[in-house]
Amino acid sequence: MTTRIEKFSRESVAEAAELLANRRVVAIPTETVYGLAANALDKEMWGVREIFRVKGRPQDNPLIVHVSGMKMLRPLVTEIPDIALRLAERFWGGPLTMIFPKSALVSDVISGGLDTVAVRMPASEAALEIIKKCGFPLAAPSANLSGKPSPTTAAHVYEDMNGKIPLIIDGGECNVGVESTVVCFKDGKIRVLRPGGITAEALSEYGEVEVDKAVTVQPDKGEKVLSPGMKYKHYSPKADVYIVNAHGEDFRQYCLKRARYENDLLALGAGVREEGIFLDCGGSPELQARRLFSLLRRADELGAKTVLVEMPQKGGVGLAVYNRLLRAAAFRIIEV
Ligand code: AMP
Ligand code: MG
Repeated sequence: MTTRIEKFSRESVAEAAELLANRRVVAIPTETVYGLAANALDKEMWGVREIFRVKGRPQDNPLIVHVSGMKMLRPLVTEIPDIALRLAERFWGGPLTMIFPKSALVSDVISGGLDTVAVRMPASEAALEIIKKCGFPLAAPSANLSGKPSPTTAAHVYEDMNGKIPLIIDGGECNVGVESTVVCFKDGKIRVLRPGGITAEALSEYGEVEVDKAVTVQPDKGEKVLSPGMKYKHYSPKADVYIVNAHGEDFRQYCLKRARYENDLLALGAGVREEGIFLDCGGSPELQARRLFSLLRRADELGAKTVLVEMPQKGGVGLAVYNRLLRAAAFRIIEV
Protein backbone atom coordinates (compact mmCIF):
# COMPACT_ATOMS: atom_id res chain seq x y z
CA MET A 1 0.00 0.00 0.00
CA THR A 2 1.29 3.48 -0.76
CA THR A 3 0.88 6.00 2.02
CA ARG A 4 0.11 9.55 0.92
CA ILE A 5 0.61 12.69 2.99
CA GLU A 6 -1.94 15.41 2.24
CA LYS A 7 -1.97 18.89 3.74
CA PHE A 8 -5.07 19.70 5.83
CA SER A 9 -7.64 21.22 3.43
CA ARG A 10 -11.30 20.89 2.63
CA GLU A 11 -10.47 18.29 -0.03
CA SER A 12 -8.19 16.21 2.19
CA VAL A 13 -10.75 16.28 5.03
CA ALA A 14 -13.37 14.93 2.62
CA GLU A 15 -11.01 12.21 1.47
CA ALA A 16 -10.12 11.24 5.04
CA ALA A 17 -13.82 11.10 5.98
CA GLU A 18 -14.60 8.88 3.01
CA LEU A 19 -11.80 6.44 3.86
CA LEU A 20 -12.93 6.39 7.49
CA ALA A 21 -16.55 5.74 6.46
CA ASN A 22 -15.19 2.82 4.42
CA ARG A 23 -13.64 1.35 7.57
CA ARG A 24 -10.09 2.34 6.76
CA VAL A 25 -7.47 3.79 9.12
CA VAL A 26 -6.26 7.39 8.61
CA ALA A 27 -3.62 9.34 10.54
CA ILE A 28 -4.89 12.73 11.68
CA PRO A 29 -3.29 15.71 13.41
CA THR A 30 -4.46 16.77 16.85
CA GLU A 31 -3.09 19.38 19.24
CA THR A 32 -1.51 16.66 21.42
CA VAL A 33 0.16 14.16 19.03
CA TYR A 34 -0.86 12.62 15.69
CA GLY A 35 -3.59 10.00 16.01
CA LEU A 36 -4.32 6.81 14.11
CA ALA A 37 -8.08 7.04 13.61
CA ALA A 38 -10.92 4.66 12.77
CA ASN A 39 -14.73 4.69 13.04
CA ALA A 40 -15.49 4.02 16.72
CA LEU A 41 -19.03 2.81 15.96
CA ASP A 42 -18.46 0.36 13.11
CA LYS A 43 -20.20 -2.87 14.21
CA GLU A 44 -17.45 -5.21 13.05
CA MET A 45 -14.66 -2.99 14.41
CA TRP A 46 -12.71 -3.41 11.16
CA GLY A 47 -10.78 -0.18 11.32
CA VAL A 48 -10.26 -0.38 15.07
CA ARG A 49 -8.81 -3.90 14.81
CA GLU A 50 -6.57 -2.62 12.02
CA ILE A 51 -5.27 0.11 14.40
CA PHE A 52 -4.17 -2.52 16.93
CA ARG A 53 -2.59 -4.56 14.12
CA VAL A 54 -0.57 -1.80 12.44
CA LYS A 55 0.65 -0.36 15.75
CA GLY A 56 1.40 -3.73 17.30
CA ARG A 57 -0.62 -2.51 20.28
CA PRO A 58 -1.52 -4.91 23.12
CA GLN A 59 -5.28 -5.74 23.05
CA ASP A 60 -5.81 -4.71 26.66
CA ASN A 61 -4.57 -1.16 26.05
CA PRO A 62 -7.81 0.76 25.37
CA LEU A 63 -8.27 3.53 22.80
CA ILE A 64 -9.52 7.05 23.35
CA VAL A 65 -12.71 7.97 21.49
CA HIS A 66 -12.65 11.43 19.91
CA VAL A 67 -15.87 13.43 19.60
CA SER A 68 -16.76 16.81 18.13
CA GLY A 69 -18.97 17.85 21.07
CA MET A 70 -21.32 16.86 23.89
CA LYS A 71 -23.99 15.64 21.49
CA MET A 72 -21.65 12.95 20.18
CA LEU A 73 -20.56 12.01 23.71
CA ARG A 74 -23.98 11.25 25.21
CA PRO A 75 -24.83 8.01 23.35
CA LEU A 76 -21.40 6.54 24.19
CA VAL A 77 -21.84 6.68 27.97
CA THR A 78 -24.43 5.74 30.60
CA GLU A 79 -23.65 8.56 33.00
CA ILE A 80 -22.02 11.99 32.93
CA PRO A 81 -21.11 13.24 36.42
CA ASP A 82 -21.69 16.96 37.07
CA ILE A 83 -17.98 17.51 37.51
CA ALA A 84 -17.36 16.09 34.01
CA LEU A 85 -19.88 18.55 32.57
CA ARG A 86 -18.04 21.42 34.22
CA LEU A 87 -14.64 20.17 33.05
CA ALA A 88 -15.93 19.69 29.50
CA GLU A 89 -17.30 23.21 29.48
CA ARG A 90 -13.94 24.61 30.54
CA PHE A 91 -11.40 22.33 28.83
CA TRP A 92 -13.08 20.89 25.68
CA GLY A 93 -11.94 21.03 22.92
CA GLY A 94 -8.60 20.44 24.45
CA PRO A 95 -6.16 17.84 25.76
CA LEU A 96 -8.42 16.41 28.48
CA THR A 97 -9.67 12.81 28.29
CA MET A 98 -12.38 11.72 30.71
CA ILE A 99 -13.34 8.15 31.65
CA PHE A 100 -17.07 7.32 31.71
CA PRO A 101 -19.10 4.14 32.20
CA LYS A 102 -19.57 2.94 28.61
CA SER A 103 -22.87 2.29 26.84
CA ALA A 104 -23.55 -0.83 24.75
CA LEU A 105 -22.62 1.19 21.64
CA VAL A 106 -18.94 1.07 22.59
CA SER A 107 -17.23 -2.21 21.70
CA ASP A 108 -15.02 -4.12 24.13
CA VAL A 109 -12.36 -3.96 21.42
CA ILE A 110 -12.09 -0.20 22.02
CA SER A 111 -12.28 -0.38 25.82
CA GLY A 112 -9.79 -3.24 26.06
CA GLY A 113 -12.44 -5.27 27.89
CA LEU A 114 -13.09 -2.56 30.52
CA ASP A 115 -16.66 -1.41 31.22
CA THR A 116 -15.56 2.22 30.83
CA VAL A 117 -14.66 4.37 27.84
CA ALA A 118 -12.17 7.23 27.54
CA VAL A 119 -13.49 10.22 25.56
CA ARG A 120 -12.08 13.55 24.53
CA MET A 121 -12.96 16.44 22.25
CA PRO A 122 -9.83 17.77 20.53
CA ALA A 123 -9.08 21.45 20.02
CA SER A 124 -7.30 20.90 16.70
CA GLU A 125 -9.27 22.39 13.84
CA ALA A 126 -8.21 19.60 11.49
CA ALA A 127 -9.27 16.85 13.92
CA LEU A 128 -12.62 18.53 14.57
CA GLU A 129 -13.31 19.07 10.87
CA ILE A 130 -12.61 15.41 10.15
CA ILE A 131 -14.85 14.16 12.99
CA LYS A 132 -17.66 16.51 11.91
CA LYS A 133 -17.37 15.45 8.28
CA CYS A 134 -17.52 11.79 9.37
CA GLY A 135 -20.52 12.33 11.63
CA PHE A 136 -19.31 9.50 13.88
CA PRO A 137 -16.73 9.45 16.71
CA LEU A 138 -13.18 8.32 15.97
CA ALA A 139 -11.21 5.87 18.08
CA ALA A 140 -7.60 7.02 17.92
CA PRO A 141 -4.41 6.18 19.77
CA SER A 142 -1.12 7.88 18.95
CA ALA A 143 0.03 7.14 15.38
CA ASN A 144 3.40 5.56 16.30
CA LEU A 145 4.43 1.92 16.41
CA SER A 146 3.77 0.65 19.93
CA GLY A 147 6.69 1.48 22.20
CA LYS A 148 8.12 4.24 19.97
CA PRO A 149 7.98 7.96 20.76
CA SER A 150 4.61 9.45 19.77
CA PRO A 151 4.58 11.40 16.48
CA THR A 152 4.32 15.17 16.57
CA THR A 153 4.73 15.75 12.81
CA ALA A 154 3.35 14.05 9.70
CA ALA A 155 6.93 12.99 8.86
CA HIS A 156 7.16 11.06 12.16
CA VAL A 157 3.92 9.25 11.30
CA TYR A 158 5.31 8.41 7.87
CA GLU A 159 8.45 6.90 9.46
CA ASP A 160 6.32 4.44 11.44
CA MET A 161 3.30 3.93 9.17
CA ASN A 162 4.62 4.04 5.60
CA GLY A 163 3.01 1.20 3.63
CA LYS A 164 0.54 0.40 6.42
CA ILE A 165 -2.16 3.06 6.05
CA PRO A 166 -3.51 4.90 2.99
CA LEU A 167 -3.45 8.50 4.19
CA ILE A 168 -1.81 10.91 6.63
CA ILE A 169 -3.39 14.35 7.02
CA ASP A 170 -0.63 16.89 7.63
CA GLY A 171 -1.69 19.63 10.04
CA GLY A 172 1.83 20.79 10.89
CA GLU A 173 3.63 20.34 14.19
CA CYS A 174 1.49 19.47 17.22
CA ASN A 175 1.13 22.34 19.65
CA VAL A 176 1.08 20.49 22.96
CA GLY A 177 3.40 17.64 21.95
CA VAL A 178 2.44 15.11 24.64
CA GLU A 179 -0.73 13.04 24.87
CA SER A 180 -3.87 14.23 26.66
CA THR A 181 -4.41 14.30 30.41
CA VAL A 182 -6.54 11.25 31.34
CA VAL A 183 -8.82 11.55 34.37
CA CYS A 184 -11.47 9.45 36.06
CA PHE A 185 -13.85 10.40 38.86
CA LYS A 186 -13.99 8.66 42.21
CA ASP A 187 -15.57 9.69 45.52
CA GLY A 188 -16.19 13.14 44.09
CA LYS A 189 -12.48 13.57 43.32
CA ILE A 190 -10.67 14.05 40.02
CA ARG A 191 -8.06 11.36 39.64
CA VAL A 192 -5.25 11.98 37.13
CA LEU A 193 -4.34 8.63 35.52
CA ARG A 194 -2.01 10.17 32.95
CA PRO A 195 -0.71 13.75 33.10
CA GLY A 196 -0.87 15.87 29.93
CA GLY A 197 -1.55 19.32 28.56
CA ILE A 198 -4.30 20.13 31.09
CA THR A 199 -2.40 20.39 34.35
CA ALA A 200 -3.34 19.07 37.79
CA GLU A 201 -3.14 22.69 38.97
CA ALA A 202 -5.76 23.79 36.41
CA LEU A 203 -8.04 20.86 37.27
CA SER A 204 -7.84 21.63 41.00
CA GLU A 205 -9.97 24.72 40.47
CA TYR A 206 -12.84 22.33 39.78
CA GLY A 207 -12.45 19.83 42.62
CA GLU A 208 -9.99 17.86 44.69
CA VAL A 209 -7.31 16.32 42.48
CA GLU A 210 -5.41 13.11 43.15
CA VAL A 211 -2.50 12.09 40.95
CA ASP A 212 -2.44 8.30 40.53
CA LYS A 213 0.72 6.70 41.87
CA ALA A 214 1.39 4.96 38.53
CA VAL A 215 2.15 8.41 37.05
CA THR A 216 5.56 8.55 38.72
CA VAL A 217 6.14 5.09 40.23
CA GLN A 218 6.90 1.97 38.23
CA PRO A 219 4.03 -0.52 38.65
CA ASP A 220 5.03 -3.95 39.98
CA LYS A 221 4.86 -6.83 37.51
CA GLY A 222 1.25 -8.01 37.27
CA GLU A 223 -0.03 -5.08 39.36
CA LYS A 224 -3.44 -3.80 38.26
CA VAL A 225 -3.22 -0.19 37.07
CA LEU A 226 -6.23 2.03 36.44
CA SER A 227 -4.76 3.32 33.18
CA PRO A 228 -3.62 0.22 31.28
CA GLY A 229 -1.19 2.14 29.05
CA MET A 230 0.90 3.08 32.09
CA LYS A 231 2.23 -0.45 32.54
CA TYR A 232 3.86 -0.73 29.11
CA LYS A 233 7.34 0.34 28.09
CA HIS A 234 6.77 3.45 26.08
CA TYR A 235 8.11 6.30 24.07
CA SER A 236 11.51 4.67 23.64
CA PRO A 237 14.04 5.49 21.00
CA LYS A 238 16.67 2.85 20.15
CA ALA A 239 19.17 4.64 22.38
CA ASP A 240 19.29 4.01 26.13
CA VAL A 241 17.73 6.99 27.86
CA TYR A 242 18.68 8.14 31.37
CA ILE A 243 17.28 10.98 33.43
CA VAL A 244 20.08 12.88 35.17
CA ASN A 245 19.02 14.46 38.44
CA ALA A 246 21.14 17.58 38.11
CA HIS A 247 20.65 21.01 36.63
CA GLY A 248 22.57 23.69 34.80
CA GLU A 249 26.35 23.50 35.16
CA ASP A 250 26.22 20.29 37.25
CA PHE A 251 24.29 18.55 34.46
CA ARG A 252 26.68 19.92 31.85
CA GLN A 253 29.79 18.79 33.64
CA TYR A 254 28.40 15.30 34.29
CA CYS A 255 27.54 14.87 30.58
CA LEU A 256 30.92 16.19 29.41
CA LYS A 257 32.72 13.83 31.79
CA ARG A 258 30.85 10.82 30.40
CA ALA A 259 31.36 11.98 26.81
CA ARG A 260 35.12 11.80 27.38
CA TYR A 261 35.08 8.00 27.48
CA GLU A 262 31.77 7.21 25.67
CA ASN A 263 30.98 7.62 22.00
CA ASP A 264 27.52 8.28 20.59
CA LEU A 265 26.32 10.11 23.64
CA LEU A 266 23.76 12.93 23.44
CA ALA A 267 22.63 15.25 26.20
CA LEU A 268 19.27 17.03 26.30
CA GLY A 269 19.44 20.05 28.56
CA ALA A 270 16.85 22.65 29.50
CA GLY A 271 17.56 25.86 27.62
CA VAL A 272 21.17 24.90 26.80
CA ARG A 273 23.20 26.24 23.86
CA GLU A 274 23.24 23.60 21.11
CA GLU A 275 26.86 22.63 20.66
CA GLY A 276 28.84 19.39 20.76
CA ILE A 277 26.82 16.68 22.49
CA PHE A 278 24.15 19.10 23.70
CA LEU A 279 20.64 19.57 22.29
CA ASP A 280 18.18 22.04 23.78
CA CYS A 281 14.99 20.42 25.05
CA GLY A 282 13.51 23.82 25.90
CA GLY A 283 13.67 26.22 28.80
CA SER A 284 10.02 25.89 29.86
CA PRO A 285 7.79 22.85 30.58
CA GLU A 286 5.61 23.81 27.58
CA LEU A 287 8.57 23.84 25.20
CA GLN A 288 9.89 20.60 26.64
CA ALA A 289 6.51 18.93 26.09
CA ARG A 290 6.44 20.16 22.49
CA ARG A 291 9.97 18.98 21.72
CA LEU A 292 10.42 15.81 23.77
CA PHE A 293 9.22 13.12 21.35
CA SER A 294 10.75 14.81 18.36
CA LEU A 295 14.13 14.96 20.13
CA LEU A 296 13.96 11.29 21.07
CA ARG A 297 13.42 10.46 17.39
CA ARG A 298 16.23 12.81 16.42
CA ALA A 299 18.56 11.02 18.84
CA ASP A 300 17.97 7.83 16.85
CA GLU A 301 18.61 9.60 13.56
CA LEU A 302 21.90 10.89 14.96
CA GLY A 303 22.85 7.35 15.93
CA ALA A 304 22.99 8.04 19.66
CA LYS A 305 23.55 4.99 21.88
CA THR A 306 23.02 6.90 25.12
CA VAL A 307 20.78 9.90 25.77
CA LEU A 308 21.14 11.81 29.02
CA VAL A 309 18.23 14.10 29.83
CA GLU A 310 18.22 16.84 32.44
CA MET A 311 15.59 16.18 35.13
CA PRO A 312 12.53 18.23 34.12
CA GLN A 313 10.55 20.45 36.45
CA LYS A 314 7.61 18.46 37.77
CA GLY A 315 4.99 21.22 38.07
CA GLY A 316 2.38 22.08 35.43
CA VAL A 317 2.94 20.38 32.07
CA GLY A 318 6.33 19.36 33.48
CA LEU A 319 4.61 16.44 35.21
CA ALA A 320 3.62 15.06 31.79
CA VAL A 321 7.18 15.52 30.52
CA TYR A 322 8.53 13.71 33.61
CA ASN A 323 5.96 10.90 33.23
CA ARG A 324 6.89 10.28 29.55
CA LEU A 325 10.60 10.55 30.26
CA LEU A 326 10.40 8.01 33.10
CA ARG A 327 8.95 5.52 30.63
CA ALA A 328 11.38 6.37 27.85
CA ALA A 329 14.16 5.86 30.42
CA ALA A 330 12.63 2.68 31.87
CA PHE A 331 12.63 4.55 35.22
CA ARG A 332 16.44 4.93 35.29
CA ILE A 333 17.47 8.06 37.16
CA ILE A 334 21.12 8.94 37.70
CA GLU A 335 21.84 10.81 40.92
CA VAL A 336 24.80 13.13 40.53
P1 AMP B 1 -2.95 6.57 23.58
O1 AMP B 1 -4.16 6.58 22.74
O2 AMP B 1 -1.81 5.82 22.97
O3 AMP B 1 -2.63 7.96 24.02
O4 AMP B 1 -3.36 5.77 24.87
C1 AMP B 1 -4.60 5.97 25.48
C2 AMP B 1 -4.47 5.70 26.94
O5 AMP B 1 -5.66 6.13 27.59
C3 AMP B 1 -4.35 4.23 27.28
O6 AMP B 1 -3.05 3.79 27.25
C4 AMP B 1 -4.93 4.17 28.67
O7 AMP B 1 -3.90 4.34 29.61
C5 AMP B 1 -5.90 5.33 28.72
N1 AMP B 1 -7.27 4.81 28.67
C6 AMP B 1 -8.03 4.62 27.57
N2 AMP B 1 -9.23 4.11 27.90
C7 AMP B 1 -9.23 3.98 29.24
C8 AMP B 1 -10.17 3.49 30.20
N3 AMP B 1 -11.38 3.05 29.84
N4 AMP B 1 -9.81 3.51 31.50
C9 AMP B 1 -8.58 3.97 31.87
N5 AMP B 1 -7.66 4.42 31.02
C10 AMP B 1 -7.96 4.44 29.72
MG1 MG C 1 0.32 6.05 22.57
